[in-house]
Amino acid sequence: MSCPPVELHKKSEALRANWHAYQGSMRFEQFVEFAISVSSFAGFLDAKALSGLHQVARDLEQQTLNLFGDETSHPITPELMNDLDSRLDSLLSRMDSYIERNAQPKPERRAGAEAQATVGKSVSPSRRIWFFGEQSAKWQDLMQQLRYFGIVVEQGKWEISSEGDEEAIVVLFEIAGLEDTVWAERIRSLRQRFAAGKLIGLGITPDFDSLQTALSAGCDFCLPQATPLPTVMAKILELNDSEEEAPYRVLVVEDSLTATKLIVRSLNESSVESFAIANPSDVLTSLKRYQPDLILMDMYMPGCTGVEAARVIRQHSEFLSIPIVYLSGETDVALQIDALRLGGDHFLTKPFNPVILNAIVRSKIERYRALRRSMFHDSLTGLLNHTSSKQRLDAAINNSSADQQESLSVAMIDIDHFKKVNDTYGHPVGDQIIRSLAWLLKQRLRKSDIVGRYGGEEFMVGLPNTNGTQAYQVLDRIRRDFSQIKHPFNDTWFHTTFSCGIACYPDITNSEALVKAADEALYEAKRAGRNKVIMPSECLTPVAATGV
Ligand code: GH3
Ligand code: MG
Ligand code: MG
Ligand code: MG
Repeated sequence: MSCPPVELHKKSEALRANWHAYQGSMRFEQFVEFAISVSSFAGFLDAKALSGLHQVARDLEQQTLNLFGDETSHPITPELMNDLDSRLDSLLSRMDSYIERNAQPKPERRAGAEAQATVGKSVSPSRRIWFFGEQSAKWQDLMQQLRYFGIVVEQGKWEISSEGDEEAIVVLFEIAGLEDTVWAERIRSLRQRFAAGKLIGLGITPDFDSLQTALSAGCDFCLPQATPLPTVMAKILELNDSEEEAPYRVLVVEDSLTATKLIVRSLNESSVESFAIANPSDVLTSLKRYQPDLILMDMYMPGCTGVEAARVIRQHSEFLSIPIVYLSGETDVALQIDALRLGGDHFLTKPFNPVILNAIVRSKIERYRALRRSMFHDSLTGLLNHTSSKQRLDAAINNSSADQQESLSVAMIDIDHFKKVNDTYGHPVGDQIIRSLAWLLKQRLRKSDIVGRYGGEEFMVGLPNTNGTQAYQVLDRIRRDFSQIKHPFNDTWFHTTFSCGIACYPDITNSEALVKAADEALYEAKRAGRNKVIMPSECLTPVAATGV
């Protein structure tokens, strides 16, 4: 989730230039330009998960937007000018130091190499987290567990402020036992040191004052002293796992060329991609081709109103929930009411304010994407759900059959004696086991692999371009490592295992038959004593089997 220094440099130079332009002219229009660039810059840092830098930028954004709505307050007073100047200066100098540190090649780290040997898949710097605090037995356990997920923990020292890792995604610190004034200062110093990382504070008393102090000092998440280990693990894994999102995409339906240009430019400032059409009758084709996250719809167009176009769009079930934001003139009251009756998502009155436009577009898209995620993914594990894993497997098989050279393996995995786990340790602990297997699979498999939760404690894995022998090696390694993971329970811990069956394309070419064959192999593994991966012998010689 890192950001190329060149891109950051360009953005911060643009910000600087806009500020200098305002200082030179003291004109309101120029301040608007500056406010837009601050707002888009803050959004950009947020999207890149540069948490520390984003917090500084957000403060500047708040101050700027407070002055943005009122033309009469311009030119601003010398005091306000100095205040903004020093905030911007502080942001830009932190930015410069971040850019400088990230432009240098990184030294090899011993811990990274160790983890590589353990997990077999390369460990990127984003898989390294920092820990500040006393290393108790409990934390030793946490570190060891994290290693199975490919995460290396570096022990940091409070006193050495030059030490740090700008690329770290997670910084964990323990403040239990420290004086109030001391810990707040320490959080501030960590925030200074780690521009990108999310700060997770452990042992913070969950009362209003302590939480407020911790958050304003720069902490991102506060966990109280008694937080169970699995919850801490869950937070760390979740933050490490968050993939960089694809850019937001907006379809603009607008007949005025001038309005379109303004909209596209303003979305672009905020790193939102867009595609514009002038003729509403092209909307269905464009939706299918461009697959946007939101539609910005002009209210009045020749031949068709925005509301009529929206009505047509909603006849297609796949576009039932895509947000539609209307761009309407002050006078289109009757149309606005009509649109409201049809569940219009939002109105923006022309001429629109670009900062508000971007804020609305972003928040609507965030919710739309969250909705889609919940439709296709399982809520306990975040993996694909039953239906979408089957669909993805069908699509992968279609791809493989289009190219006759390709192999593909399917694995079915089922946790052993899981009823006993639930009975002995309780359902919530059972859930935690399901989650840890999901994380392990996600961590060890490639982005192009299909990983789904097929049922309760059953998983389906699809490995494109992977023959049976390769699939066996990967899954057997995961099996072995999973059986080593210590699952905490009260003051002790326990192990669990899974069984796995593999089937291969093109021995079998139909997805249902593949899953069935993998299931049969899985039950053979169960019968053979569990904690095994079984693959039918014909999968062993995929090249001969295809006759290639
Ligand atoms: P086997 O080794 O033969 O697979 O034995 P098993 O006990 O795992 O048997 P089976 O697969 O039939 O049992 C699955 C159990 O998983 C039954 C159900 O109560 C439990 N289960 C299903 N979904 C969940 C879930 O989401 N959370 C928890 N905690 N348990 C679940
Ligand atoms: Mg129009
Ligand atoms: Mg089962
Ligand atoms: Mg089972």
